[in-house]
Amino acid sequence: MTTGAYRLLLPLALVAAGCRSAGEREDTERPPNLVVLFADDMGWADLGCQGAEGFATPRLDRMAAEGMRFTSFYVGGPVCTPSRAALLTGCYPKRVGLAHRVLFPYSDTGLHPDEATIAEVLRDAGYATACIGKWHLGHHAEFLPRRQGFDRWFGVPYSNDMDRHVYAKRDFTAPPLALYDDDEVIEESPDQALLTRRYTEEAVRFIAENASRPFFLYLPHTMPHKPLHASADFRGKSELGLYGDVIEELDWSVGAILDALEEHGIDDRTLVLFTSDNGPWRAESSGPLRGRKNTTWEGGMRVPCVVRWPGMVPAGAVCDEVVTALDLLPTAAALAGVAPPEVDGHDVRPLLLGEPNAASPTEAFFYYKDDKLEAVRSGRWKLRTGSSQLYDLEADLGETTDVATAHPDVVARLAALAETARADLGDATTGQPGANVRPVGRR
Ligand code: MG
Repeated sequence: MTTGAYRLLLPLALVAAGCRSAGEREDTERPPNLVVLFADDMGWADLGCQGAEGFATPRLDRMAAEGMRFTSFYVGGPVCTPSRAALLTGCYPKRVGLAHRVLFPYSDTGLHPDEATIAEVLRDAGYATACIGKWHLGHHAEFLPRRQGFDRWFGVPYSNDMDRHVYAKRDFTAPPLALYDDDEVIEESPDQALLTRRYTEEAVRFIAENASRPFFLYLPHTMPHKPLHASADFRGKSELGLYGDVIEELDWSVGAILDALEEHGIDDRTLVLFTSDNGPWRAESSGPLRGRKNTTWEGGMRVPCVVRWPGMVPAGAVCDEVVTALDLLPTAAALAGVAPPEVDGHDVRPLLLGEPNAASPTEAFFYYKDDKLEAVRSGRWKLRTGSSQLYDLEADLGETTDVATAHPDVVARLAALAETARADLGDATTGQPGANVRPVGRR
């Protein structure tokens, strides 16, 4: 056979063997897809592989076995709105004016349209973008996902307990919870038992429609925020009861997304990250961590985090370095090959890709509750700024023992770091406004 004949036959042989065709090989420079699966109020210990009892998370456990678990992963705030603002902008919620409590159906504010979100950064890099699920960064038209870089939106504007909620002190009754399909309200007070399933179906459809180009899928679930709901397929199935049923349905959803990626042959070009917006309301879900949602104890802001990207993120790895939700934007920008806007987070590709001796680029992580700085972590140490209690998180994960008197030098170092945050971001405790905070979006 001549060389020419080999040239003709080789591509056919590759196709027959299931390899990528020549046409597909041209786009090896194509940046990876990014899928962010974001539970609402799921605790650090709500993964089977992190000690969950009374329910099972086989797909998340398998995802962890095939990828990496980050065990010191922090969100930017201990409740919904601040946490989402931080994840999408790469900045502390305090910087973008959304640190205080959450947005309500009577709020006139939202994430400022001028803030750059991951969706905008990736859309500018050629990605298709979708937000499927709960938004909670402003429910007025000018703040909704399609104004913040998402081509597609399917979901609800805020929390599921706000559906027709009566705010007696304000003499305000919330309208029925709206279910949006892009810019249109398609239902009012949708059956919440079907939300996890419907979000998943929309997400799988988005993956199918965009399998041949880079995409960013952000899937912020409504569950397990209260009131809890699971579909008939899951209700009554777990040993624990409804809470366990809800988590098992979320686990099913993770599996459906991963299966869709595999089915479309884009498994190894897709980075999937699963995490939660803040700690749990259910005490047991914090496991060994102290505290829960709406606190700056570890249980409030350290959440489960599993990342999978076959061939790129090492399988079965566990990383205990400090990584935060603020790191997502700069890391995603780097993977997409574009320069990120100036943010508080860091590019954590060396940790993600398992480079030997990679260390956290976060010198200090600041725990804000509302507009108040309550704690700072640097390395293994965590200082509570009000009481000056010091905890050694490596030796004392549950924050049981104040070791401040034994380590005055550490207390001084972390107190100085806290001062830098106060000057930069502000602190309502000390009355400092912060030199570099930006305005919230207002109607
Ligand atoms: Mg939440």
